[in-house]
Amino acid sequence: MVQIAIIGGGAAGMMAAATVAEQSPEAKVVLIERNKILGQKVRLSGGGRCNVTTGFSDMDEILRRYPRGRNFVKHAFYSFPPEKVMEWFEAHGVPLKTEEDRRVFPQSDKGDDVVGAFENLYQKLNVQVILGNGVQSISKVEGKFVIALSSGDPITADRVLIASGGEARATGGGYALASSLGHTITPLAPSLNAFVVQESWVKELAGVSFLSARFKLKGAHDFEFTGPFVFSHRGVTGPAVFSVSSLGAYELLKPEVPTRLLVDLLPTLGEPELLQKLQGEMAAHPKKTFENVMAHLVFKSVAEVACKELGIPAEKICAEMPRKDVNRSVAWLKGVPLTVIGRAAGDEFVTAGGVSLKEVDSKTMESKICPGLFLAGEVLDVDAFTGGFNLQSAWATGRLAGKFMAISK
Ligand SMILES: Cc1cc2nc3c(=O)[nH]c(=O)nc-3n(C[C@H](O)[C@H](O)[C@H](O)COP(=O)(O)OP(=O)(O)OC[C@H]3O[C@@H](n4cnc5c(N)ncnc54)[C@H](O)[C@@H]3O)c2cc1C
Repeated sequence: MVQIAIIGGGAAGMMAAATVAEQSPEAKVVLIERNKILGQKVRLSGGGRCNVTTGFSDMDEILRRYPRGRNFVKHAFYSFPPEKVMEWFEAHGVPLKTEEDRRVFPQSDKGDDVVGAFENLYQKLNVQVILGNGVQSISKVEGKFVIALSSGDPITADRVLIASGGEARATGGGYALASSLGHTITPLAPSLNAFVVQESWVKELAGVSFLSARFKLKGAHDFEFTGPFVFSHRGVTGPAVFSVSSLGAYELLKPEVPTRLLVDLLPTLGEPELLQKLQGEMAAHPKKTFENVMAHLVFKSVAEVACKELGIPAEKICAEMPRKDVNRSVAWLKGVPLTVIGRAAGDEFVTAGGVSLKEVDSKTMESKICPGLFLAGEVLDVDAFTGGFNLQSAWATGRLAGKFMAISK
C-alpha cells in the first residue's frame, strides 16, 4: 500500500488529500497541519467569506491574472478549471454563487463551510489528519521519506507533498523543507498590497472611490494597470492597486526608496479631449469658480485637492484662469503624482516567488530533482491578482498532485 504524506492542511494540501482519498482508496494518506485547525487561511480568505475561485471561464482571461507561473499552471487549470472546482464543491455540499464581479463564494458566505466539506470527506474516507504538529525536516532514506514532526515519532512515506503555502501569515517553513531536498527558492516578496504614500493630502480624500483609474508605477521597472481603486488615509487601495503591486512585487517601495506613482483619474479621455471638455465647461460658466467647474468632471473633493496642490485659489473664476493653470490642472488629473513609500495590507496577501518552476513537472507536480516529492499551491513560484485566482491555483495544483502521487512510480 502506497503511503502518502501531505504537509500543510491549507487549500492545496486539503484538495490533494481529498483527491488521493477519492481516486485511490488503496493509498494510505496522512495530512499534517501545524495549526490546530485545517485551512486557517481558507477560512479567513475573502473577509471570512472565502472567494473560492473565479467565475471567468475563458482560459486566456484567467491566465492573464497570473504575473508569475502563468504557463506552469496551464495544464493543472485545463484539468481542473474553475467550473470543475465549482462542481466539486457543490457536489461536496457547498452550494456556490457568482457575484457581479465574477468572484465565487459559498452561498452561506462562510469560509468554514469550504473547509467543512473536506473535514466531512476525510471522516468518511478515513484520511488521517494530524493537527497542531509541524513538520521539522524531511530526509530521504533508502527510497523512503522520513518526516520529523515537532512532537511524536517520525512518519515514513513513499511520496510526500509539500503544500505549506506562502510566507504571508506563516513562517514559510516549507521553503526550507523544499530547499533541503535540493530545490531552488526564487526571491520571495509580498504581493497584493495597498500603497502607503508620502503625500499627506490623500487623507482628505479617504474613502473616495473610482470605478476606473490608470496606475503607472515608475520604479526600477515600469508597471501599469487600470481598474477600480479608493483613496485611504495613508495612500491608495483597491483592486487596481493590488494588481499593480502584484506586477511590481519586487519593487522595494520603502521610505529610503520612494517610488513615483501616477494615477490617471480619467483614463477614457485623452489629454487633448479632457482639455477641450474642461474649456467647454469654463466657457459655459465663466463666472463660476474654476474649482466648481472642475467638479463637473471629478468629485468636488478631488477638485478642491487639485486646486490646493496646484496653488489655484478657490475663489478664482473661470474667466480669470491663466491658460497655463488650466493645462496644469488637466495634466494633474491625467497623472496625479504620488510617491509610494511602503506597502500596507490589502484584502488578500500572497507571496511572490517560491520553489522554482523549472524544477517541477507541470503535468504531475512532481519534483524533477527529488522523485516522489510533489509540490503544490503557493509554495511554488505562482501567484495571481485578487478575485479567487490564488485559491484556484491551489485547488488545481493540489488536485493534480493528489492524482499523480497515488499512481506515480
Ligand atoms: C487574509 C487573506 C485573504 C485571502 N483571500 C483570498 C481570496 O479571497 N481568494 C483567493 O483566491 N485567495 C485568497 N488569499 C490567498 C489564498 O488564501 C492562498 O493563496 C491559498 O490559501 C494558498 O493555498 P496553499 O494551500 O498553498 O497555502 P495555505 O492555504 O496557506 O496552506 C498552507 C498550510 O500549510 C501549513 N504549514 C506550513 N508549514 C508547515 C509545516 N512545516 N508543517 C505543517 N504544516 C505546515 C500552514 O499552517 C497552512 O495551513 C487570501 C490570503 C489571505 C492571507
